[in-house]
Order: sequence, then C-alpha cells, then structure tokens
Amino acid sequence: MKQIFIRASDGIRVEYGDLRLVLDPSRAMEDELIFVSHAHYDHLFEAEHQRILASKETASLAAARGRVIRNPVSEVKGLAMLNSGHIFGSRSLLIFDEIYYTGDFSLRSRAFLKQGETPRCRILIIESTYGKESYRFPSTEEIVDRAHRIISEQFSYGRPVILMGYPLGKAQVLTSLFSAWKPLYQHGSVAKINSTCAELGLDLGEAPQTYQEAQEKGLLEKKPWVLISPMLSGRSAFISNLKRKYGAVTVAFSGWAVDPSFKHAMNVDYALPMSDHCDFSELKEVVLRCSPEVIYTFHGFAAEFAEHLRKEGFDARPLPSTRGGRYADE
Ligand SMILES: [Zn+2]
Ligand SMILES: [Zn+2]
Repeated sequence: MKQIFIRASDGIRVEYGDLRLVLDPSRAMEDELIFVSHAHYDHLFEAEHQRILASKETASLAAARGRVIRNPVSEVKGLAMLNSGHIFGSRSLLIFDEIYYTGDFSLRSRAFLKQGETPRCRILIIESTYGKESYRFPSTEEIVDRAHRIISEQFSYGRPVILMGYPLGKAQVLTSLFSAWKPLYQHGSVAKINSTCAELGLDLGEAPQTYQEAQEKGLLEKKPWVLISPMLSGRSAFISNLKRKYGAVTVAFSGWAVDPSFKHAMNVDYALPMSDHCDFSELKEVVLRCSPEVIYTFHGFAAEFAEHLRKEGFDARPLPSTRGGRYADE
C-alpha cells in the first residue's frame, strides 16, 4: 500500500507515494501537479504553472475570467476526472481508485447538468458548504414551479421579473430553465459567460439579447420581460433603478435562501433555495454511496459536518479552510 498524506495548506495537498498533488490551490511548488476542479474564482490558480490538470471547459472558462491555464493536462495515469455536477465543465477527481476529491459538488440533475458521480473509495475528501442539518433544499421541480408561478403572477400585472444567480453556474441553469419566457434578456456579465459556454458546446438555445441592447432599442419600456442577472443587492444602483423605472420584481436563487436572513440581507422580493451544491442530506448520501473508511471535510460547515459524521460512527476530520470565505456560494 502506498504512503498517503493529506493536509490543507493553500488548497488540499495529497501525497500518494511519489505523486505530489494539490487540489484547487492558490499556490503550488514546481514539482507539484495541480488539479483545478472548476472555474470559480475560489478554486482557480492565480499564477502560471507547468502541470495543471483540468477539463477543457474549465481551462477555457478560466481564460475567459482572466486566469490563464496554459497547456492544461487532460490525462494523468491513475487520475480520473469525473463529473461533479456543480457547474458546466466541473470535475471531481478519483486518485488511483482510492481517494476521491469532490471539489464543489451536486447530486442533482438539473437543466443540462447531470448528478455528480459517487465512486466507492477508501478516502473521501468532500466539500461541506451546507454541512449543517438545517440546510435542506426542496426538490428542483418544486423550486422551478414556484419561480414559474411568481413570473406568471407578476406578468399578469405587467411587471418585469429579474432572476438572479451568480454568472458562472447558476445563470446558465436559469437561462436554460426559464428560456420559454419572452422577451428574455440577459445582463452583459451573464451573456459573456453564456457565450463562452455555447462556444464550448453547451446548448442554451438562441442567445437572448443583452440588457444593454434591449435598453438601446427602447425594448425595456415594453413590459413585462424577464432578465437573467448576476446576484445583486436590491440596494445596488442597477437593481434599484430597474425597480424604480419599471416596477421590476427580484427573485434570487441561492442555497443560502434557506436562512430567512438572506432575503433581507439581499433586499430581494423573493429568495428561492436553488443551489449548485449538495444540501445536508445529499452530502450524507454521497458519503453512504462512496462508503469510505476515512472522510475529510472542507468548505463551509466543515467542522459541523465532520462532527455529525463522527456521531454516526464515521472516521471524519475537518480540513482547515485555507481559501475563500465561508459563505462563498461559488
Ligand atoms: Zn467553492
Ligand atoms: Zn464552485
């Protein structure tokens, strides 16, 4: 059996025999192999490095976001990139069929995303963004249905609806789920990422006009309409202007919407708990399916989730957070 060391320091460092691997690091040594699970900023590598393992989608999206991954390696013997179900192009990593790193992970099929893979492994390194019992999300169908009903009701009053989620990930899901509403517009930051995804082969249908185009053509005066927007506070200049001018209604999509304080903090009209991460019961489901001997938790409620697993008889240890904020939903 190979010697294995796992520790957190600017990302998660795994030593497996001679292999020195760093998972989603912010810094790395020359002799280390880097794995970048997806193109959210809290997982991207900030400098150039010779050996970066990433999907081609992640490499292209990183470039579109100003972080160049030169010559991404797509194959390394013994390492398998699997679907992590989090965002377009996101991957988890199975290391010599023994260690499984989830990256950010979702167990739900939704829009164009398939549920993340859960191979059997001896050591599981699992994200725990929502690793606290109170975080349980309704089914995607239920949330989508609620959103359709909100839009339908507001349209009957002639009010525009702004659907908000972070531009890489949620915005593509929202575009895909709500494209039947017309006219549909997209914020410039969403349009930029949607078009990069489309170039990489993601079918999001015909690209909606951007907010700017619609504004220049005077189309926003013709109410109602739906706008796909980045997550912005209701107090931001952009949103408060749209509310004042057009009477627009805001709907924010985030797992944090489970907290009643989220809606007020964001100052939105509706907050729906749709996430690109596992909720608490799905995290436990991943553990059961992977059936590991040892579990390391990272991100969000790492200590709480590890403690819960220990009470259930698992050998679970939290990894200290080395990057990103606790409430980063990316
Ligand atoms: Zn993350
Ligand atoms: Zn992420």
